[in-house]
Amino acid sequence: MAKRNSFSIACWRVNPVPAVRRSFTLIDTSTALYGVFGDPVAHSLGPAMHNQAFARAGLNAVYLAFRVRDLAGAMAGVRGLPMAGVSITIPHKVPVMEYLDEIDPEARAIGAVNTVVNRDGHLMGYNTDSRGALKALGEKIDPVGKTAAVIGAGGAARAIGYGLVKIGARVLIFNRTPEKGRTLARSLGAEFHGLADLAGLRPDIVINTTPVGMAPARDAMVVDPSGLAPAAVVMDIVYNPVETAFLKAARAAGCRVVDGLTMFVHQGAAQFELWTGRKASLNVMRRAALQGLELLGGRFHA
Ligand code: NAP
Repeated sequence: MAKRNSFSIACWRVNPVPAVRRSFTLIDTSTALYGVFGDPVAHSLGPAMHNQAFARAGLNAVYLAFRVRDLAGAMAGVRGLPMAGVSITIPHKVPVMEYLDEIDPEARAIGAVNTVVNRDGHLMGYNTDSRGALKALGEKIDPVGKTAAVIGAGGAARAIGYGLVKIGARVLIFNRTPEKGRTLARSLGAEFHGLADLAGLRPDIVINTTPVGMAPARDAMVVDPSGLAPAAVVMDIVYNPVETAFLKAARAAGCRVVDGLTMFVHQGAAQFELWTGRKASLNVMRRAALQGLELLGGRFHA
């Protein structure tokens, strides 16, 4: 990919954001096109984060958000335009798999793709959610040999549970709908438990993978973490707000906490590295994602 100059200007908004610095890359006939496919996608932090990362790396590339309802048409566009790479989000992470030429074994095992790389017309699918979560957790604890409680049994729980089992953690699944929880636990080789048992099982790690606590319902908690052992590391993958009520209560109980933005940035950095072959700047990406959140002004983020 060709290198080029980028420049930045300061943009001022009256309310609610005081001052935001934005970088713009000059666009020309050799600009590489990346984007996110989802529905809804209006509040995605991907454009803020990836465009800043491209600009910082001096890459001639741009990343846009596409609200995609016709996935077959959009994927034909990836080949036809062509686009260099795509992030895939709700509700396309599973259906996108049928439009790819090859799927990375980890994404195949997880059963979902959140990253597409276009290598000279060969579309390859990856899942960076598992890697992102493990990297984020790894900033506070080494999960190998630890007991990890995963709350939720959706796509994110599957990706995170898969990663934890693979590196040798003992995984406990907790879910509102027991049948879904049991099914996930069985497929991962994990255990299923009711939420009431959480504190008594004294997990080393607790991860909320449900959307509970996401703006605008900022005060909601999937479970009260105040009975957890203070030595526990508590992670929430919700990132709007960055410090959820769940994390605030866990911190008050003496636990170390990991916020969902840290996972979001790590999974985005893994995408950047797959697309460009270059190391991503985590600091630049986190700052850009925080600015994107500020611009959302606490509005609902899916
Ligand atoms: P999903 O497949 O829809 O699964 C959601 C899970 O949450 C289900 O197990 C559901 O339980 C549970 N749940 C939903 N509402 C609940 C409630 N009120 N009380 C208790 N449990 C509830 O969603 P997903 O794809 O896993 O995503 C989950 C969240 O993670 C979203 O907020 C998403 O934005 C976020 N996420 C963050 C990152 C990151 O990088 N930080 C990455 C991926 C996803 P039932 O089975 O009972 O319905």
